[in-house]
Parts: sequence; C-alpha cells; structure tokens
Amino acid sequence: MYPTRAIIDRDALRHNFNYYLNSLAPAQPVPVIKSDAYGHGAVEVARTLSDCGCRQFAVFRIAEALDLRQHGITQPLWILLGALPNEADDAVGQNLKLAVFSWEQAVALNAAAKKHHVIQDVHLKVDTGMGRLGILPSEVPAFVARLATLSHLRLTGAFTHFAKAIDTDHPVTQNQIAAFRGVIQHLPASCTEIHGCATCAIAQHFLPELPYARPGISLYGLDPEPGMNLPIKPAMTFMSNIISLKTLPKGHNVSYNCIRTLERDTRVAVVPAGYASALPRALSDHCEALVRGHRIHNLGTICMDMAMFDVTDVPDVAVDDEVVFIGRQGDLEINAWDVARQAGTIAYDLLCHIGMTQPRFYIN
Ligand SMILES: *Cc1c(COP(=O)(O)O)cnc(C)c1O
Repeated sequence: MYPTRAIIDRDALRHNFNYYLNSLAPAQPVPVIKSDAYGHGAVEVARTLSDCGCRQFAVFRIAEALDLRQHGITQPLWILLGALPNEADDAVGQNLKLAVFSWEQAVALNAAAKKHHVIQDVHLKVDTGMGRLGILPSEVPAFVARLATLSHLRLTGAFTHFAKAIDTDHPVTQNQIAAFRGVIQHLPASCTEIHGCATCAIAQHFLPELPYARPGISLYGLDPEPGMNLPIKPAMTFMSNIISLKTLPKGHNVSYNCIRTLERDTRVAVVPAGYASALPRALSDHCEALVRGHRIHNLGTICMDMAMFDVTDVPDVAVDDEVVFIGRQGDLEINAWDVARQAGTIAYDLLCHIGMTQPRFYIN
C-alpha cells in the first residue's frame, strides 16, 4: 500500500448524522454528499448513513445521482443543480427530486418526462439573495402558475440558499429569511419538501419551521466557519509514513529554491506527499504534521510528491512512522481548518482535493 492516504471513520459520520437527526427533529436532515461527499466517498457515506435511517440525500448533479443508483442507493436523491437540458432524458423516472431554476430547464424536463411516460418531481430553486441560480422571489407566483401548465412535472418542493449565514444581522441575511417566508405563501399545497438551511444556517436557527435542512460539511465533522465548535467529530484523517531519514549538517539546503537553510544539524524526514496529493504548496516551510505524538515542522518548499520535515526532536523516530497532516495522533490534533486557513483557502476546498487525489480506507 502506498503510504499517503485518507482514513474515513464511519463512527464519526454516524455520530454527526445522529446529532442532526436528534437536534432537527421533527425536521429531517438531507445529507449533502456532493463532490464525492466532500472527499469522503459518496457511496460509502450514503451506505453508512442509510444504516442510521437516513431517508434521502442531496447531490449537485445528475451524474452523481446515477452513480449512487448504480451502487444500490435507492432513496430519493435531491439534485441541487437539477438536470441540464441535455441530461433530462437520463434524469427522469429515477426517483430524483430535481431543482428547477429556469423556464427552459422546466420545459426540457417536462418533454423528457412526457416521452418516458413518467411524472417528474421538481423543487423550485429560489434566489433570495445568493445571486446564483434560482427564480427571484417577485417572480415566483407567475413561475409557479406557469409550471402548473406543464403536465408531466409535479412541484413537490422549494428551496433557497444563504450567502452569509454566519452573519445573522447582515441585511442580505435578514432579507433572505423574510423573502423565503414570503415565497412559501405562494406555493401550492402539494409543495411540502421545503428547505433553506445548510450547516451554518442550521446552527443559527434560521427558518426553524421548515421540514428539511441540508447539512454538508458538519456531517464530515467540520464547522462551516472555524471556531463555531459544533458538537461534531472530524471523519477524515489525512496521513502518510516516513520513507527516508537522514541527518544533514547545519548550513545544508532543503528542497527547491533554497528557501530553507538548516540552522542546526537536523534529522530530516522525507514524506511522500506533496501538492499533487493535496498538501497545499502555499504551506511550504510552514506545514505542520504529527509524528509519535509530537508536532513537527516542514522544511523548505513542498514538492509535487514529497515534503521534508524536521524530526530532530522526536525520540526514536524511524522510517515507516505515521505522519498525520490532518487528524488526531495521541493528544494532538490538526484540524482541516488550521491547514486550510494557512493555505489561504477553506476546509471544504481542502477536503474535496484530498478526496480527489487520495486512496481512501474506511474504519469502524
Ligand atoms: C453545498 C450546499 C449545502 C451544504 O452546505 P454546508 O455548508 O456544507 O453545510 C447545502 N445546500 C446547498 C444548495 C449547497 O450547495
């Protein structure tokens, strides 16, 4: 087995899902498992949460939904993008709830549903302030009336998404809450699958009257903004092993561009993980990791597939020792947010990239 890998703890996934199952009740969580479950593996996450009684999942696009179907996930899947016109034929009749954000999209979907002799459920996507996809609140009544003329679509849900949920007092946030409440008044009685809150908005108790919510990042055990301290557990450990150890003398250079000259005789460990394995190059000479319960520091530029660390102060350090970039080791922990912020990005971005580049192993 190649040393660099992601370990996914199913117990943490179950713990986080159960937190929402209990705290949202009677509302239901709809786990967002887009982007391969934020790098954790959508199929495996869906299987794990299905065993905890999860009744539906949300993904971004049709291809993700069809892949889950191929792997035996049978629950309704909510497609946040809906079907693009050229996907409509594949999308209908698959027990999907498809977002609708434009009239053209609705027309194409209706034609496909008619052709395949099915009635297709759709969720109206409402742009209350995100400025992305969706019908503007003022246009919802007319749009809903027009949708009702499409014989093979059934409007079963409606949703919106917050732009800055962390800031309750922001005028955009306040407008979004009020606008969505206004929109709900114009929806037909058949429209019961109404949802507005992702992790941050759930934590802020926005729209508590809605029957569904869409937690994403928190199911994987990370706060949507650093420092919120939600009662959740990180599910992913990103780690490798030392492949080489040697002592270099004071004054020796380490890695490309000679940005690090050793200030003492140094025990240097080489770890086979670099920016091609989602260790951000922006962390060069700053990256931290855990070895034998000690915090160690990166030396010099992070290469494509390797990075060097100072292990001089780690007693008994040896080739094959585990090196944790994100996760726990003994009493120490490196959170994905620590790494992300240092690299100038967010935990979401980092997790997705680890998922895209690393083999995954599941425990518990
Ligand atoms: C990604 C996404 C979510 C989940 O957001 P988190 O911040 O990860 O909880 C919910 N709803 C929509 C529309 C999204 O795009």
